[in-house]
Amino acid sequence: TKEQLLHPYIIIPEIIKMIEKKAMVSGIKIVKDISEDVPGFMGDPSQFQQVMLNLLNNAMDAIEERHGSSGGQLSVAVCKKNENQVEITITDNGSGISPENIDKIFSPFFTTKPVGKGTGLGLSVCYGIIESFNGTMQVKSKQNIGTTFVIHLPVKHY
Ligand code: ADP
Ligand code: MG
Repeated sequence: TKEQLLHPYIIIPEIIKMIEKKAMVSGIKIVKDISEDVPGFMGDPSQFQQVMLNLLNNAMDAIEERHGSSGGQLSVAVCKKNENQVEITITDNGSGISPENIDKIFSPFFTTKPVGKGTGLGLSVCYGIIESFNGTMQVKSKQNIGTTFVIHLPVKHY
């Protein structure tokens, strides 16, 4: 893999741009909160992009399931959690995840989507990639309220 220094302030808006049209069509408002001084972290840019796109697409699916094509909100926030960690938070106001499913979502092939729509591989791949970046990924969710994924990544020190 091609590990390099990734700057959240640069790369995350670029990734969000890739889903803007789809979000617009689905009536989803995207809120970004990324300050310029968030430190960088190490990773393969295409793998990081894959993680973010999987999470954003899942969020849009969950929003459509709950709201149809208006009333959705998706927010992406990035901050320096402490001297050693960058925190990326992706929050949607979609369908949420039931307590019985929440422990299964990172397992390969677990999906609640119709056959042909979901492979159930997205989150297991995301989890593996974040692990390979020496980071962590957690989820919090409430049914009919929404879902938040929190990623912590090690700050690149010089
Ligand atoms: P897939 O999207 O192919 O179903 P994933 O691994 O990406 O596979 O996600 C697994 C399951 O986790 C989804 O089918 C869905 O039930 C649940 N899920 C993931 N993200 C969200 C979200 N933001 N809101 C609600 N449910 C979610
Ligand atoms: Mg998915």
